[in-house]
Amino acid sequence: MTEKKVLLTIFGATGDLAYRKLYPSLFRLFRKGSLQNNFAIIGTARREWSDEHFRAVVQKSISDLDPTSAEAQSFASHFYYQSHDVQDPEHYITLKKLSDTLDAKYDLAGNRLFYLAMSPSFFGVIVKELKAQGMTDTKGFHRVVIEKPFGSDLASATTLNQAITATFDESEIYRIDHYLGKEMIQNISAIRFGNNLFESLWNNRYIANVQINLAESLGVEDRGGYYDKSGALKDMVQNHILQILSLLLMEPPAAFCDEEIRTEKIKALNAVRIYTPEEVNRYFVRGQYAPGRINGSDYVGYREEANVAPDSTTETFVAGRFTVDNFRWSGVPIYIRTGKRLTEKGTRINIVFKQVPINLFKTDVHKDCPERELPENVLTIYIQPTEGFSLTLNGKEIGADFKTTPVKLDYRHSAETVENSPEAYERLILDVLNGDSTNFTHWDEVAQSWRIVDAIRHTWDDETPDFPNYPAGTMGPKAAFELVEKDGFNWIWEP
Ligand code: NAD
Repeated sequence: MTEKKVLLTIFGATGDLAYRKLYPSLFRLFRKGSLQNNFAIIGTARREWSDEHFRAVVQKSISDLDPTSAEAQSFASHFYYQSHDVQDPEHYITLKKLSDTLDAKYDLAGNRLFYLAMSPSFFGVIVKELKAQGMTDTKGFHRVVIEKPFGSDLASATTLNQAITATFDESEIYRIDHYLGKEMIQNISAIRFGNNLFESLWNNRYIANVQINLAESLGVEDRGGYYDKSGALKDMVQNHILQILSLLLMEPPAAFCDEEIRTEKIKALNAVRIYTPEEVNRYFVRGQYAPGRINGSDYVGYREEANVAPDSTTETFVAGRFTVDNFRWSGVPIYIRTGKRLTEKGTRINIVFKQVPINLFKTDVHKDCPERELPENVLTIYIQPTEGFSLTLNGKEIGADFKTTPVKLDYRHSAETVENSPEAYERLILDVLNGDSTNFTHWDEVAQSWRIVDAIRHTWDDETPDFPNYPAGTMGPKAAFELVEKDGFNWIWEP
């Protein structure tokens, strides 16, 4: 593995994301040799920590990966801590001095990577000061990783983007959506473009509908304060769901590289209809969970959760039908469904194929028996917690009668393979080190996603919902089922 020379500065180094995801992912890269000798990491946050304390925290964060003590110490020795209030310009001067010292000490060739792992309200000021204090004036590469959410609507995202592009070029900005680092999300392209069987059928002549499910069994946990201001539409649909949708619906790219893929993803998003208020009411359903029971345990309703307003109108569930106005997808409903406190956790995509033109097996040729349905073929892509895909076909049931039966071809990665596959954050950090932005979101995608979502949000904000409207432990409100049934379909939700 070639070593990547880099000085990585993490803003928000004492936070939850850094501890749970970034340090373990960096350690995995260290173990695999992507980071060896020529790297240094500066952690900054408000707390007054020493380098020693920071290194101890880093070592604790990687303890689940069972490092040897020499490995852990060697890795942690590359970490430096700088207490820092991001709003104080003075601190960037100290940070610059430390950066220059470490650059010389570790021979980092001026390569600078800034990871903004803190509240988005600080992103603007950080990038402004990075430029103002000359931290991007080195001879190597300069890249910035921006955590989600990227704005809270198109207007705020545009303002944020203007601030960031005043310091960094679009090609230097890595807007992270960790879903795009997941193995099976990347596998969507392998399945589509590696199999003529599917790609030749991937259109409105053969596909009846597409279903994207991101179900969570958890409630808001300790994120009530944040979530109550956001809701499922902004938290899940604007980013993860629309990103998955664009990968599923895009045209085949001219080459499998970042620019070509982005071009096609943007075109796919541009074909998603921006709904009128009347269409929003027809095609979108929101929900909020009431108290309920899951696997024998009782759960409170959303309004009783910590840091949530007792009369909150925030949605914890969204189901909807997107319309895609292009040659390939015209007439195919693209259903999406996401929510908290649903029956079980699962991210799954179903591609539901159209029925054969005539069901020859409706009745048994030999006997006078009732008409039988022929289930549709379904390609299911399992993203989490299990990873893999399945294909449901129809075969003949063994026996003298001519009876068809659904046959499921199932391919799941073993728990061991999943365990050993790179973490989403590990893969994405390596992509950034390699300068590969395939799995990051381009500004044009962000902007179009907000246009799509803002139309829904504005319509909803004009009306007061009748919440709560689904008990914890169910798959959402009745209206979400009716949405699909009125088109003659059903949600497919099998383990
Ligand atoms: P957190 O609240 O745990 O950490 C915030 C960090 O910012 C802390 O290190 C804190 O000291 C620092 N900070 C706050 N104000 C500061 C200031 N004025 N000057 C300097 N430092 C300051 O947050 P988190 O959960 O780690 O999330 C960070 C970012 O990552 C957010 O944008 C969040 O939306 C995103 N994110 C988090 C997760 C996750 O699993 N935690 C997942 C996806 C995205």
